[in-house]
Amino acid sequence: MTIEQALHTRSESKCELCGATENLAAFMVPPSGDDSVDQSILACAVCRAQMDDPEQMDPNHWRCLNDSMWSQVPAVQVVAWRMLNRLRGEGWPQDLLDMMYLDDETQSWAEATGDHLSDDEVVRHLDSNGAVLEAGDTVTLIKDLNVKGSSLTAKRGTAVRNISLVPDNPEHIEGRVEGQQIVILTKFVKKQK
Ligand SMILES: [Zn+2]
Repeated sequence: MTIEQALHTRSESKCELCGATENLAAFMVPPSGDDSVDQSILACAVCRAQMDDPEQMDPNHWRCLNDSMWSQVPAVQVVAWRMLNRLRGEGWPQDLLDMMYLDDETQSWAEATGDHLSDDEVVRHLDSNGAVLEAGDTVTLIKDLNVKGSSLTAKRGTAVRNISLVPDNPEHIEGRVEGQQIVILTKFVKKQK
């Protein structure tokens, strides 16, 4: 019996993560020294694509982990734990993680790839010196800035109080200069202590 056949038997020919029954193939759970059945799961094309490429991640697809995280198969537990960690910025995955229990051996395996350390989900705004900016901070401009769409030049040394952070862009903050709300690049500011 091949690995894939053995996986089909174990999973009753369903994706062990989301339950899909189409486009199934073995997925070796890294880092796996050998491609044994114990170190593999049967996963559909959608799950495999998103495990391989975080750029394709669709958080809602992984609501399926709500069920599959309770699998008795350590390899499935490991994948569920890693994906929940990658998605924990969404909120609900953290709640599931809090309920999850892995035995010591499975836990070490799950941590081996460092998914729980990744902070890709967290957008941090850093000033020109690498200091973390927070909403409400006061920053100083470190060069003269021409404000787009106006004749206004924001002078070097101008203090901008009570900044706000542009949520989706770590390089942008907003603040008021001479009564006008403008977008400022974080690399042109210094946080005031
Ligand atoms: Zn799937």
